[in-house]
Amino acid sequence: MAYKDYYRILGVSENASQEEIKKAYRRLAKRYHPDANPGDAKAAEKFKQINEAHEILSDPKKRKQYDDLRHFAKAGPSSATFRGGFDLNDFLRQFAGAQGGTRTRTFTFEDLGGIGNLGDIFSSIFDRGGRFRQQRYGPQRGEDVYTEIEIPFETAIKGGKTVITIAKDDVCDLCGGRGAQPGSRIERCPDCGGTGMISVTQGAFAVSRPCPRCYGRGEIVTEPCPKCGGTGQIATKKRISVKIPPGINDGGKIRLRGQGQPGTSGGPPGDLILKVRISPHRFFKRKGPDIYCDVTINLAQAVLGSKIRIRTLNDRRAVLKIPPGTQPGTTFRLRGLGVRTDSGVGDQYIRVNVEIPKNLSSEERELFERFANSLSLKH
Ligand SMILES: [Zn+2]
Ligand SMILES: [Zn+2]
Repeated sequence: MAYKDYYRILGVSENASQEEIKKAYRRLAKRYHPDANPGDAKAAEKFKQINEAHEILSDPKKRKQYDDLRHFAKAGPSSATFRGGFDLNDFLRQFAGAQGGTRTRTFTFEDLGGIGNLGDIFSSIFDRGGRFRQQRYGPQRGEDVYTEIEIPFETAIKGGKTVITIAKDDVCDLCGGRGAQPGSRIERCPDCGGTGMISVTQGAFAVSRPCPRCYGRGEIVTEPCPKCGGTGQIATKKRISVKIPPGINDGGKIRLRGQGQPGTSGGPPGDLILKVRISPHRFFKRKGPDIYCDVTINLAQAVLGSKIRIRTLNDRRAVLKIPPGTQPGTTFRLRGLGVRTDSGVGDQYIRVNVEIPKNLSSEERELFERFANSLSLKH
């Protein structure tokens, strides 16, 4: 990363005091002033540079920021890492936007006045290894694709397989992702000379950034691939077999590595992430590993007690003992008959409804009347 050396322009050291800077500026400004050098373009340019250097270095705040940037430019990443695609201009513009500045205006060095401490900015874009976090050009991993699938209640419990069809982009098989008609000429990009990077001046700094003409690829396609129109990717529908792990929860996620969008410029594909929805069941309800169901018993079973057969997840019937005097709404538990997951097995809960008889026969009616009489005798 090249930058303008304001200290050198003024002929002072990095540690120069404000007084020394002022003195150097006055001396040079006098020597290169346009009035003293009429018609001398070189002197005029020099005068401009001197003024620019003075403007920054005479303002302690701007000087501090310039020093930080200069330090960054000197100690910054190698040009190879830099070619990874960090765009300083873009970054600073975004940062200025986040700070309430303007987003669309081109960033200039003067804008730094509004941006706080540059040291913070630069430390935030490096990870601990000193490499750029963001890589926006060159080989890039494809995006993850998110979608929802619905699976039967039983499949969620026992696990199994389901086949889904997803629409996604794939690398064009005709051009192999290059975007060029097979056999056609591919030219070296004239703007960047095939390097994929160009140098842009940002105020005091010359920054390398991806070439906008070839999008950092370094080459230009003369005849676009007829199948993908030059993008290198085609829309496809793909059938994928998905393995459902036993015991998966409603809303649980399954990640299929490499089944997302294809990468660009040889980058790896992204992942496909499925959010699982479980179809409701007629009889069972599920909360995590536990299973809930309702059964209805008759009045005599509730009053006198009984044994009833209960449907369970494993298709066998379990026997539930109803004690005499069971109240409507009572819930019983059958241990270990819930969903089997990695962290253990749940229980089955059975809520009992009691059916009150209607349309009694005369005999039944007589029995209930006798029952009613026996209650009133007790009072
Ligand atoms: Zn193609
Ligand atoms: Zn180019």
